[in-house]
Amino acid sequence: MALLDDHALLAIHEPERLPALLAGPTRGLRQQVRTRLSKRQLFAAAGISSVRRGTGRPCIVCERSIESSTLEREVEGSGQLGVAHPDCYKIWREESALLKHRPAI
Ligand SMILES: [Zn+2]
Repeated sequence: MALLDDHALLAIHEPERLPALLAGPTRGLRQQVRTRLSKRQLFAAAGISSVRRGTGRPCIVCERSIESSTLEREVEGSGQLGVAHPDCYKIWREESALLKHRPAI
């Protein structure tokens, strides 16, 4: 059996501290959003969004459910509707804006 590395140990004992220690808080997620946008697996968050209290639906960006203790952003685009955490929405929106300036694949 392999020994647990520091990150794995931390995940067990202090899971809330783990994301901040892995290459910055949002770097991995941002890369994921960029890839999904370029492959059209995620629609661009360019439309109007509304904010409400979380309803437990999964976030379109990180796929974790949005609890009622946080807010959720609902965005409409290309006839689709997506909800995201405010932080996830920020990344999604920023990456969507960048996408417009890149040539279509
Ligand atoms: Zn999220």
